[in-house]
Amino acid sequence: MSQPSLTQLEKHDGFVARHIGPSDQEISAMLQSLGVSTLEELTTQIVPESIRLREDLALKPAMSEHETLQYLKKLAGKNKIYKSFIGTGYYDTITPPVILRNVLENPGWYTAYTPYQPEIAQGRLETLLNYQQMVVDLTGLAIANASLLDEATAAAEAMALARRGSKSKSNLFFIDEDTHPQTIDVTRTRADAYGFETVVGPVTDALKHDYFGVLLSYPSSSGQVNDLSGLIAALQERKTLVTLATDLLALCVLKSPGELGADIAIGSAQRFGVPFGFGGPHAAFLAAKDEFKRSMPGRIIGVSVDKRGNKALRMAMQTREQHIRREKANSNICTAQVLLSNMAALYAMYHGPQGLKDIATRVHRLMAIFVAGMRAKGAQVDTKAFFDTVTIDVGAVREQVYMRALSNKMNLRLIGDSKLCIAFDEKTTRDDVKVLWEVFLQDEAEGLSIEQLDALYAAEDLQDVPDQLQRTSEYLSHPVFNKYHSETDMLRYLKMLENKDFSLTHGMIPLGSCTMKLNATTEMMPVTWPEFGNIHPFAPLVQAQGYLDMIHELEHQLKAITGFDAISIQPNSGAQGEYAGLLTIRKYHESRGEGHRTICLIPQSAHGTNPASAQMANYRVVVTACDKEGNIDFADLEAKVKEHADNLACLMMTYPSTHGVYEEGAKKICDLIHAHGGQVYMDGANLNAQVGLTMPARIGADVSHMNLHKTFCIPHGGGGPGMGPIGVRAHLAPFLPNHAVVHLEGPNPGNGAVSAAPWGSASILPISWSYIAMMGGEGLRRATQVAILNANYMMKRLSEHYPVLYTGRNDRVAHECIIDIRPIKEASGISEEDIAKRLMDYGFHAPTMSFPVAGTLMIEPTESESKEELDRFCDAMIAIKKEIDNVQSGKWPLDNNPLVNAPHTLADITEMDWNRPYSREEAVFPMPGQKANKFWPAVNRIDNVYGDRNLFCVCPPMEDYAA
Ligand SMILES: *Cc1c(COP(=O)(O)O)cnc(C)c1O
Repeated sequence: MSQPSLTQLEKHDGFVARHIGPSDQEISAMLQSLGVSTLEELTTQIVPESIRLREDLALKPAMSEHETLQYLKKLAGKNKIYKSFIGTGYYDTITPPVILRNVLENPGWYTAYTPYQPEIAQGRLETLLNYQQMVVDLTGLAIANASLLDEATAAAEAMALARRGSKSKSNLFFIDEDTHPQTIDVTRTRADAYGFETVVGPVTDALKHDYFGVLLSYPSSSGQVNDLSGLIAALQERKTLVTLATDLLALCVLKSPGELGADIAIGSAQRFGVPFGFGGPHAAFLAAKDEFKRSMPGRIIGVSVDKRGNKALRMAMQTREQHIRREKANSNICTAQVLLSNMAALYAMYHGPQGLKDIATRVHRLMAIFVAGMRAKGAQVDTKAFFDTVTIDVGAVREQVYMRALSNKMNLRLIGDSKLCIAFDEKTTRDDVKVLWEVFLQDEAEGLSIEQLDALYAAEDLQDVPDQLQRTSEYLSHPVFNKYHSETDMLRYLKMLENKDFSLTHGMIPLGSCTMKLNATTEMMPVTWPEFGNIHPFAPLVQAQGYLDMIHELEHQLKAITGFDAISIQPNSGAQGEYAGLLTIRKYHESRGEGHRTICLIPQSAHGTNPASAQMANYRVVVTACDKEGNIDFADLEAKVKEHADNLACLMMTYPSTHGVYEEGAKKICDLIHAHGGQVYMDGANLNAQVGLTMPARIGADVSHMNLHKTFCIPHGGGGPGMGPIGVRAHLAPFLPNHAVVHLEGPNPGNGAVSAAPWGSASILPISWSYIAMMGGEGLRRATQVAILNANYMMKRLSEHYPVLYTGRNDRVAHECIIDIRPIKEASGISEEDIAKRLMDYGFHAPTMSFPVAGTLMIEPTESESKEELDRFCDAMIAIKKEIDNVQSGKWPLDNNPLVNAPHTLADITEMDWNRPYSREEAVFPMPGQKANKFWPAVNRIDNVYGDRNLFCVCPPMEDYAA
């Protein structure tokens, strides 16, 4: 009898087997069904020899979950939590615990996908609609989108919207110099890319020239609140569109941008319950007048009806989204900030209009008292009218004041040469005011009394904001904002919403290209640790040492995985990574005197964000063909490369291709581009099929983004957050984004920023860091192999019933496969959409529909799904095929069968009359086991056309509630 060794016993603590779904036995069974004996053999069959990695990834050995948490806790401990009065668009806030635990920390909310299948996403769609309503109410404008990536990119989007909407012929855009510096930076970067000229100056200069758009700040970055209505009217006389950068909490007491006449308002919803997180993720908003509703960037949730005529929500203008509009898209936004916008909306609902007003008034009152005390002692407070932020000129003693604040664990913001800026927030207390007086006034603070000043303030009705800017209009009067103020009510509301949404807690979400894999609890836990949550993005870096260490290690991990020489952690999504990468390429060409290189080749099969990002970089898109195997048509590519050789900037290619195949010619393609002076941008969305087996840099890419929310386990949050860092080869490293507030080492100084925060949404980086740390090189490689095995196993089973569109070497696919529904539709009349909706009755989320090829379904199982789950899904698809056969054979009429009537709801089967040619049981329990465990779609099939014709993007009107 031999005993297991300690090493063997210790393996049981490992994470790899927790992350990888199939057991060893299941893996053997699947390999056997494919006629191969090992994962290595399968890999050899599939991954082209020329790009296959020979060595192990240079990563540290895998850690257990427990060890990882301990290690991270230590790193987190190097972050120092100070009170940050830095403001600049980031404010401390209290996340209501009921929202923290039941939304932010709840996989029912965070593992869902973008609501492309609205019948099983009504919960988050409702919260997003509430978010839009909240933004519409507070900004006083007609329409709002369901979040953008951050305030700075929202300002850049507003500029682009202004260009689309303005009748002015000017190429100039004006930015108020008293705007948050990172907003100016990001907007300028975008303006440079588009070829707009920007002027940054004092508000009084806004009428000096003709501008197509202006960006003003209300309140301004330094705290000033000005009545801009006259200026806005004068600008509009000249056909200039006016955007106000604003603050939702301030708008609870200040007249709204809409009432001032603004065309567009942007800002961040961060301070509505979402922690600093060293820069994000947070939801930004963009609201506009009604006339811009069809040219808005980002996703908009709209109200439509389902088959029964009941109200139902969906993403409006879904087919106008990036997948279809490509280079004509309004923006490249795909992944947004759904989870965070939901949190902000819920925060508003929990507090209600009165609660928000009280918070805003309290913050303002504390600042007013602080200022009154300072003025009483002769301090020079520059800000005349303010909400929660003021700027004080302290002259020569600034350094001492600043240091005294630091020694009290308080961060202030430096402005100019002699000024300090202080912003208050929801967490500011009376004690803070006292300490700050002492910091500024030292002994002179003695005798200042908060209570006395407060009494004076109330008695004399002191005004820090001009009368005409006091808010008198109502907001948040819809019932949803006035119902859930007790924790019991909120808890039940949250659960009710969660129950309507299909997430990874229910079953697999086999969305091709989206990589819906496990988001492990251990990976998620650090996200809500205060040491990561409570750090202001512009806090002195010595307070963020834990973050910097973790980010540095993550960069190292990503370099080891991709083969790149440098990483920029800044972009907040894959699409932003594309944009950042293209700008990097552009700067590189310019540095060599080749700024004329502006042709961007993009294969037909590319994701819609590729051409949309290219358009943002002001590149001219030339589309190249794919051959009948789905590969880049080399002859066509070569012809176009030669035709445009003089002006070729780059090729954007996805690898493995969006068709789910490792193209044999990838290296040759990269060589061709390089030989003609171009660069290769690799869309890294499919990196899950590369990790450990090959590397973007090895294949020949110069730059690539990594969707950390796909390959590296950040959950999709129902449509965001995400992160899209880019990796580059050494020659491109100097041209990566820098940042106006926090100067980054590596990229050239002065390079523009692409995100508001220097390291993007830093607080979710521990997820990817810990995934890589717990998997180690060997585990990651195995994960990739199992992802490929799972895809090929499903392909094999399904190919007996459905045509598979593309295969590569040895008739295998990569990590995903496309099944072609077009011939089936031709023969039976049943569409890919019918199949997608019928899958809901079987308890599944549909695969990706009609991308990259219309009329198809793309299935990506990932390594996290077990064989049992894959078999359940295949069984469902096969059963559905039998149902289609019944329609085709005439057993069921085309207009009345379980497919076209799907999804079925409780309302359907409890109807008295059941005049359908199939039973109620066939309708809702087509799979064994469903009677004991059934996911019920909340609504019937939603009418897409109705929703777009009758675009309605806020909560239903009050009359509807009465009825
Ligand atoms: C997801 C995806 C993108 C866009 O990434 P986001 O993070 O959603 O912005 C781009 N290309 C492909 C192929 C994708 O699958």
